[in-house]
Parts: sequence; structure tokens; C-alpha cells
Amino acid sequence: MSVKDESFRDSIATINEEGKRNIIYPRKPKGKFTNLRTYLSWVLLAILFASPFIKINGNQFLLFNILDRKFNIFGQPFWPQDFYLLVISMLIGIVFIILFTVIFGRIFCGWICPQTIFMEMVFRKIEYWIEGDRAKQIKLDKQAWNAEKIRKKSIKWFLFAVISFLIANTFLAYFIGGDVLISHITDGPLEHLDTLFKLLAFTTIFYFVFAWFREQVCIIACPYGRLQGVLLDNNSVVVAYDHKRGENRQKFRKTEDRDQKGYGDCIDCKQCVLVCPTGIDIRNGTQLECVNCTACIDACDEIMDRVGFEKGLIRYASENNIEKEEQFKFSARIISYITILSLMLVFLIALLFMRNDVEANILHLPGQMYTTKGDTISNVYTFKVINKTNRQFTDLKLNLVSHPGKVKIVGGPVNLAKGGLYQGTLFIDIHKNDLKSSKEKLKIGVYNQSNLIETDKTNFSSPIKIK
Ligand code: SF4
Ligand code: SF4
Repeated sequence: MSVKDESFRDSIATINEEGKRNIIYPRKPKGKFTNLRTYLSWVLLAILFASPFIKINGNQFLLFNILDRKFNIFGQPFWPQDFYLLVISMLIGIVFIILFTVIFGRIFCGWICPQTIFMEMVFRKIEYWIEGDRAKQIKLDKQAWNAEKIRKKSIKWFLFAVISFLIANTFLAYFIGGDVLISHITDGPLEHLDTLFKLLAFTTIFYFVFAWFREQVCIIACPYGRLQGVLLDNNSVVVAYDHKRGENRQKFRKTEDRDQKGYGDCIDCKQCVLVCPTGIDIRNGTQLECVNCTACIDACDEIMDRVGFEKGLIRYASENNIEKEEQFKFSARIISYITILSLMLVFLIALLFMRNDVEANILHLPGQMYTTKGDTISNVYTFKVINKTNRQFTDLKLNLVSHPGKVKIVGGPVNLAKGGLYQGTLFIDIHKNDLKSSKEKLKIGVYNQSNLIETDKTNFSSPIKIK
């Protein structure tokens, strides 16, 4: 960057020279980008609050029940046995975010991240509504505790607590299930003290984050923010100040010929700084604290409009775009990320297609020897069949695929409810002439009518010597 003074990098805006918290009072943003982000935030908030309560084929739309090891993604149930699919999906998500960051910088932070959406579109808006814009908030905080201050602060903190409680309920519903949460609420809080405790703990955390910790989550705590330094390059499109056009910054005077005096288009009004929720000056260049919220673009565009200059002094642009007027190009790094992402997606889709409707696990009963009845040798097993679908299976049978012989399920054929699990015991009988060794590998099939829908392997013990 052409900016030479780098002293701004020695400190962060949220901490003052004595090392104490510096409260940031951003001016209320308004403009084209703020409007677009507001509309998008409504959609995202609706999805976030509704997802644990929407059902697809009877399954919760999104569920991350870690304790019971049940996961639903877009209404599709995943079992612990499918954990590898979740891990691959997460890896794809990470590569996607990296790719997105390399191309578009922290666009995720500004437009999609729940922290920014709740902070800027919910809590901050309530604050503006109750306490007014930046100047009024500063005045209120400075004034002594009178009736007005007590009233405004109490209403604000009460609303913050209510919204934190709502978020805590939604958050918990993702983990224990929307139905379970509703039943715990209707049973009464004292019937489920553990749920009540979790709700209060989450409410406290959310209240702390949105009422006090705020932008420090993005500046200090978020690991994604820390990654920017390695992900961004001169080709990445970020919220950027066009220093070539803006410098030499000078105050605006109507009668002055700025071109003749060699002034840039920045009139040093500092509106871009005053609206910034992380308290930085974007004119210093790309900084880790910038969450790409676009507030400074709107603020500067408004000023440019007022003074009759072209908009876009602060805009979405890459360093190369500003410095060399280059258009975006696909670098080798971007192409390699896209290739990796495409391969991973193809791999995931192939795995999803190969995923069976049911999963069977057949284990030799520990400590049990084979038994013989005439020429027939018998082994006993425990087995588990999981239904990964939303339909019911009746009369599932298990048969030997690799050998002639019989599988006898204790209690008869298996009936599996949708998403259900069946555990039982079975015997396998094989004629000694059909065995070649004392530890034979068997392949057993699960049949729905005459369709083979799953296979599993197990061992069969016998007194047969290797021929
Ligand atoms: S809002 Fe625009 S004109 Fe005003 S200080 Fe910022 S960059 Fe300069
Ligand atoms: S510099 Fe601009 S885009 Fe970045 S956080 Fe501040 S206001 Fe938002």
C-alpha cells in the first residue's frame, strides 16, 4: 500500500492506551449495501430460527445431536457410521470458505456470519432505536444516572436478555431437537432442570457476547479472522479505499479547485471511520479488524454524492484493481482451490450415491465356541441393523452370500421402523463339507424381499483343519 504510516497496526481500536476497553459507538449506517444486507439478514435469521422446527419426511431439517449421535442435514439423517460423510462435508465447507476468502475476502463475515448479523442487524438496531444514534449514545453514557438513563438502559438490557434467551432456545434445539425442546417447555422448566440450566448458561453467554464483548469476537476471538493474513492476496476483492484517487486528502471547500491544488477525492470527513463497527480507518489499508460490513462504502458514497464526486472511493476492489487498474483474474492458487473443491464434491456425491439404505453389523458372540450337530456346525452372533431411510422395512431377512448354509434369526425376520435400529441374535449353520478352514470368512446379505440391500462380513469358527 502507498500508506506509509503503519502505527495504526500497533494497537486495536477496542483497547485504549491504558489497556482498558474502548467502547465503539458506530454511527448508524444507511445506504444501498446496508439495505441489501438488511434484507439478506431477514432471510438468514428466518432460516436460522426455523431450521430446528422444520421437518422433512418427519426428520428435523438441521440437527446436531452429539450426545445421541444423530445428525440431520437438510432433513437427511446421518448415523455415527456415516460420520466420515460429515467430516468430508465439513472439509468441503472449509475449502469452500478458503476459496471464497481468496476471491472475495471476508465477505462471509459481513454478509452471512451469525455474529455480525445478530450484532449489527438485531442488537445494534435495538440500541439505535432506544438510545439513538452515535452522538446520543455517547451523551447518554457520559451523563449521570438519572430517570432517562435508567429507563433507556433497563429497556435495552431487558430486550437484550429476551433476545439472548430466544437465541439460546434455538441454539439448544439444534442439539437436542426442536420437538424435545418444545416438550421440555410444555412439561414445565422444573421437570427438566438440566435443560433449564443449559438455557440459562447459553443465554448468559449470548448476552455477554452481544451486550458487552461485541466486535471483540471478530477482532480477538474469531480464528477465521486471524486467517486473513495468509488467505488474502493482491487479487482478492475486499472493501478497499482507493488511495490513488483519495490521496492527497484535504477538507472540502466549495470554491476550491482540488485538481489544480493536487488534492485527492477524500475530503477527510471521517464518516467512514465513524460508521465502522470495529473502529478502524479503512483508509489505512486492509486490516484484520475489517469484517467487510460495507458500512464505510455507504457512508463514503453518501459524502461523494453530496460533494458531487463520483461514488466508489471506498468500494469492493482488489489491490491490483486499485494499484494497476487490473480486472479480477483467476490466479494459479484460485484454480488449484477450485480443482480440489470440485474433486472433493465429486467424491462426496459418489459416497452419497453408494451409501446403503440400511447398515448391518454382525459380530461373533464373544466367548462362544461353535457347536456341532451331526455334520452341521453352528455359530452364534449378535447383530445390529440400522435403517437410514424414512421408510419402514418389514420382514428383512439375512442370508449367507459366500457359502451355502442357513441364517436363523432369533425371533424371526427383522422389522425396522424409519430411522430405527434393530439388535438381535442369530445362528449360522453350515455343513462341514462347505468349510475349508477353522476360521472361515463369511459374507452375509440383508434382503428386502428378494433384493440384496446390504452385506457384512464375519468369521465362522469350526474344527475343520486347513486342507
Ligand atoms: S468517508 Fe470518504 S471522503 Fe470521508 S474520510 Fe472516508 S474516504 Fe474520505
Ligand atoms: S472498514 Fe468498512 S467494511 Fe471494514 S468493518 Fe469498518 S466499516 Fe465495515
